[in-house]
Parts: sequence; structure tokens; C-alpha cells
Amino acid sequence: DTDLLRVRNLKTRFFTEEGQVNAVEGVSFDVRDNEILGIVGESGSGKSVTALSVIDLIESPGRVTDGEVWYRNPDLAAEFGDDPDVGIDGDHVDLRTVPKGVRRALRGPAFSTIFQDPMSSFNPSITVGEQIAEAVEVQRRARSNPRSTRSRTQGYGLVNYIVDGLVPGRSYVDEESMDRAIDLLSQVGIPDPAERAEEYPHQFSGGMLQRAMIAQALAGEPDLLIADEPTTALDVTIQAQILELLREIQDDRGMSIVLITHDLGVVARMCDRVCVMYAGEVVERGSLADVFDNPTHPYTQGLLGSIPDLQDPRPRLQPIEGNVPGLLDSEMGDRCYFADRCPKAMVDCLEKPPEFDVGDGPEHRTRCVLAERNYDPADALSSDRF
Ligand code: SF4
Ligand code: MG
Repeated sequence: DTDLLRVRNLKTRFFTEEGQVNAVEGVSFDVRDNEILGIVGESGSGKSVTALSVIDLIESPGRVTDGEVWYRNPDLAAEFGDDPDVGIDGDHVDLRTVPKGVRRALRGPAFSTIFQDPMSSFNPSITVGEQIAEAVEVQRRARSNPRSTRSRTQGYGLVNYIVDGLVPGRSYVDEESMDRAIDLLSQVGIPDPAERAEEYPHQFSGGMLQRAMIAQALAGEPDLLIADEPTTALDVTIQAQILELLREIQDDRGMSIVLITHDLGVVARMCDRVCVMYAGEVVERGSLADVFDNPTHPYTQGLLGSIPDLQDPRPRLQPIEGNVPGLLDSEMGDRCYFADRCPKAMVDCLEKPPEFDVGDGPEHRTRCVLAERNYDPADALSSDRF
């Protein structure tokens, strides 16, 4: 079994004054062992919300309303094996059905995240080394309380208490954790790690702080690292170095990475498989070669239409006329969400949403009626249709 994570039919809504916003509209994908899975799409397509939904970080007025998040963890599966409320499938546990404290406690040892802005991951008034050492310590305590010998929330509760109870300015870390933090800083390529550990976040350059954030994310030896636009704010040279580092740590640790980006050049260079998102849905998914060499969804075809050169460090998504729709439930309707911008849209496309489960192989899937039949220009709607 090579699926670390199986996400099924995930739906996330935001309940706003304007109405219900369907930010994630039934998303399914797998993350396999030892791979980099790219989630690519324009801003507003639901990439980040999807990732946050998987690790239960959606805040009010948002809520994950539907779906399953199957995480492979034999310990948890054994612990909850006789609980009728918890979904178990072999070694996989449906995280949506376990108590919230358990989900929270998995952040760090199971999943960790890095974001575009490393400043957001650090407290400006605590040294970088100490913050990473704290992460090490929290994870170590979590591990030294074996789940099987405790009630289901006791051990996790301790972790949450430590995290929530931190007082800025007070040191909570012992020497062993600090040594480990320095070791992590060195593993992410920070020179003079012992000295840098004593510095504050503002003393780090953008690229160095990005490395420190990666070190912090590795403190719990996670199975899965979610990297959300990790290099978007960096200049080209630093971007290349950080991507190289992510590749290395993925390879060395045999971990999996979900890489969220709007940058097709980053996907081409980094990813084993790709999900293309549009309007809260995965519209195409497959291996890198499936999606890049033989795109079957008109949206993907448009994105890839005029990438000048994949070796170019920063090709951008091809602008496609129009915007990602606003995703208000009242305005979505039973139709293909891409129809307004699709050069191949037909009458059928406005009558019902296309199925996802079609494509040219078990791996390569497309949400478009044209995946099952050839395009006939005679079917096209006239351009003044809307
Ligand atoms: Fe275009 Fe129709 Fe396919 Fe949607 S279903 S992408 S509108 S051809
Ligand atoms: Mg985003």
C-alpha cells in the first residue's frame, strides 16, 4: 500500500454575508509515499483551502462540510479499531472522524506546513534556534507518550497544553532540543548554525528564514510536508536553491510533499504527479508527463498553451481571459464551471457538471465532456452566448 493519504470528496464552505461560498467542491486525490504531488491553479482556485482542509486548519466562517481524509497510520487504526464512530480501512484512518484533539496532535509528527511568508511562522521576539528547539521538544514529548497506553485524548492534550501555554521570552528548551535545532539548521544548509540559532528572525535574509522555516517543519519528522507557494516571494536564484533543498530533504527522508503553486515551471521541475484545480475542483490529474505532454482539459491546455520554455525558471500560468468564478453557491449551478472561459464550450456543458472519472488511463483523469468524445467545432456555442 503506497498511499500515505487518500482525500475523498472533500468540501469546504465559507458562510459569509454574501452567502455560501463553495471554496472546495468535492476534491479527491492521493498522496503516495516518497513523492512530490503538485497542486496547481490560479489564485482563488482553492489550492490552499484544500490543503488547510486536509490538516483541519480551516477557521470560522469556513468549515469542512463533507468528505474523507484517509491517513495511513497503523497505531491510530489499532487505537480506534473498535470505535464505531471512527472510519478505519486497513491501516488507514479517516481523520475527519477522529476527535479534534487527535487531529491537532498530528500536526508536526504527521503533517507540517511551510508557507510563502516565513515571517508568519516565527515569533519576532524569540531566537530562531529556540523556536525550532521548542518544536523539537513538543514533538519529542508527543512521541514519548505512546498512544496505545493512554486514553485517546490524554497524551494529545499534553501536547496542546504545551503549545498553547508558551509564554514569550521564557525559555522552555533543554540543551538536547537546542542541539537538535542546530542540527536541523545545518541540515537545511544554514552556515554557522550554532551562531545563527541565537539570532532573531529579522536578522535572517528571506532565503535563510525560508530554510529555518523548513527546519522547523522537519522538527517532528513529518510523513508529509505541505508547501504552499514556498518560493513565490523569493528571487530566482534563491527560489532555485530552496526548491533544490526541498527535493533533497524529500529524497533523504523518503517523505512526501504536497507542493502548492501557480507556477508551472516549479511543477515541471519538482513534481511526480499533478492535480490541476479550477473553481474549487480538481479538473485534471495525472503524472507529470500525462498532464504536461498530453493535457486533456481545455483549462490545462490553455495554461500550458504558450509556456515559452520549461527550463525558464519562472514561466507563469498562461493568462486565460476571464476570472475564476466567485464560487457563491447561489451562482454555481449545474454546469461546467469553466464554461464561461472555455473556447470549446458546448450546449451540454451548460446543462450538467461534467464527470471527473474519465480519461485516457486509470491515472490520468479529466473533468470535461470532451474526455469521452472528440471535439466538433460545429457544437461550439456562439461567442455571444452569455
Ligand atoms: Fe469546456 Fe465543456 Fe469541457 Fe467544460 S465540459 S471544459 S465547458 S468543453
Ligand atoms: Mg494560496
